[in-house]
Amino acid sequence: MVLSSLGQRISSAVSDLTRAPTLDEKAFDGMVKEICNALIEADVSVRLVSGLRTSIRKKVNFKELGQGVNKKRIIQKAVFDELVSLVNPHAEPFKPKKGKPNVIMFVGLQGAGKTTTCTKIARFYAVRGFRSCLVCADTFRAGAFDQLKQNATKAKIPYYGNLLQPDPVVVAREGVEKFKKERFDIIIVDTSGRHRQEEDLFTEMVDIQRAIKPDQTIMVLDGSIGQAAEAQSRAFKEAADFGAIIITKTDGAAKGGGAISAVATTHTPIIFLGSGEHLLDLERFEPERFVSKLLGLGDMAGLVEHVQSMNLNQKDTMKHIAEGVFTVRDLRDQLSGIMKMGPLSKMAGMIPGLSNMMQGMDDDEGSTKLRRMICICDSMTLKELDSDGRILVNQPSRQVRIARGSGTSVREVEDLLTQHRMMAGMAKKMKGGMANMQRAQGQL
Ligand code: GDP
Repeated sequence: MVLSSLGQRISSAVSDLTRAPTLDEKAFDGMVKEICNALIEADVSVRLVSGLRTSIRKKVNFKELGQGVNKKRIIQKAVFDELVSLVNPHAEPFKPKKGKPNVIMFVGLQGAGKTTTCTKIARFYAVRGFRSCLVCADTFRAGAFDQLKQNATKAKIPYYGNLLQPDPVVVAREGVEKFKKERFDIIIVDTSGRHRQEEDLFTEMVDIQRAIKPDQTIMVLDGSIGQAAEAQSRAFKEAADFGAIIITKTDGAAKGGGAISAVATTHTPIIFLGSGEHLLDLERFEPERFVSKLLGLGDMAGLVEHVQSMNLNQKDTMKHIAEGVFTVRDLRDQLSGIMKMGPLSKMAGMIPGLSNMMQGMDDDEGSTKLRRMICICDSMTLKELDSDGRILVNQPSRQVRIARGSGTSVREVEDLLTQHRMMAGMAKKMKGGMANMQRAQGQL
């Protein structure tokens, strides 16, 4: 994922500084400069980057800072907060409610990823207990209905289209009426795009909007256009007012950071990021979570959500996390869950520390590493597995025995325990937060 290389550059600029023997103003300026260069290379606008530079400098006043840890923490926090504010649109998105029809209309240029994203969103809600369906009102592009049909069938989502009807307004109205009668909760309407912004497209969008009166209009925007996202979203906003944006192709686009920050300046909520062509390649966008993951701090909330949406049997782990507990066995379950969930590099990014550990490895090497970690867990006694890991850390002889039993090295056992400690710390922090998150489940 290209955005992660931006994150790695920023993270290493911060950790190089905090590890430096003398943490002086010159070294600090060097770090700020490196962060700004990395952002500009990711196509974030110079104006925004210069604002970020000023804010970080304002927050970290060297003369007033104490020594040691305090100073480091203040710098890390300032960088984190400013990155969050750079991508934060400061706007609340619409939340669909169960038990009533929520009509969601998708707009955007051709090729932005509308049809793909419609299905991802329909599935997202379906696994959260909403009755979701799809309407194909793209009568402009030949093959659009077939594509939607294929995607919908794969995702097991009911769909509607009418190849004999050339008027998209009529098809949209028919589909919405049919599904409203059938009491669906989420009715997603895919509309046509054009190669570029043109009058015809905007007129059609407004006509469909008038006919189906959507509760929410979502614009799908290709992240690879970088800063140009700002002008494009503004043009669409003037034509057909929309409530939220989904940015796609953040997996391959070096310019994803540019698109996200540019859209944030328009104060339109970014609700999801598309991160691949697969049905599951959809990530909820929340500024703090996004920046934590970008910087390799992991995204435990995202992981928990993903595990739940996969319907894997991980009840004990969820319960433990909610209670602020995280045993070695929970780590083992997470690791084997990841192996089942596919694109390893993507899943690893959600686990604090694991993305750094796997940096530079391809998916095969990553799988081998994960398998070795699981072997280590499997060589533990039940008492060790269900412990909080302390007996293993405090008794090195146990580590030697486990390394021998699993055919690995003591160093690898130590790494696993470090990984476990980090996740246990996160679980402790998440206590309470998890309960809120579960309550918010299924709501945008
Ligand atoms: P539409 O014309 O706006 O409906 O766009 P499509 O849904 O047909 O998508 C256009 C192309 O972009 C297809 O090849 C999709 O597989 C691809 N695509 C959509 N979203 C993503 C994404 O998040 N990442 C990547 N890499 N490709 C995507």
